[in-house]
Amino acid sequence: MAQNNDRLDKVVLDARRAADKRDAGYRAQALKLYPWVCGRCARTFTHANLQLLEVHHKNSDHNDNPPDGSNWELLCTYCHEHEHSKIKDGAGRTVGVDDLPVATFNPFADLKARLDAKLPLKDTPDTER
Ligand SMILES: [Zn+2]
Ligand SMILES: [Zn+2]
Repeated sequence: MAQNNDRLDKVVLDARRAADKRDAGYRAQALKLYPWVCGRCARTFTHANLQLLEVHHKNSDHNDNPPDGSNWELLCTYCHEHEHSKIKDGAGRTVGVDDLPVATFNPFADLKARLDAKLPLKDTPDTER
């Protein structure tokens, strides 16, 4: 279990870093302008976990980046996700749960079939003997 969570964390962090790189321009500006605090839950951030603090565009337009920061709001990744799940206008963030790779290999897929095949051995009626 712990391993799976570690792996998921890594996937999320990798996606986050890719987004960070793409958004480096306005993100760096916003982080200079505003204190490192989530605008919703007031969680505070340091260099150690700063990748979890994201720049939200108040009007949902990622291309609208006035230098005075009037369209930006710093949100932690959780509140940011929540904010966009409320908006649901399709113009939101591009990195989300939908982008995570899906496990396609299921080692247990035929487990039930195997168990079913074995069960009759135990229940073989005496009349067969
Ligand atoms: Zn938050
Ligand atoms: Zn946003």
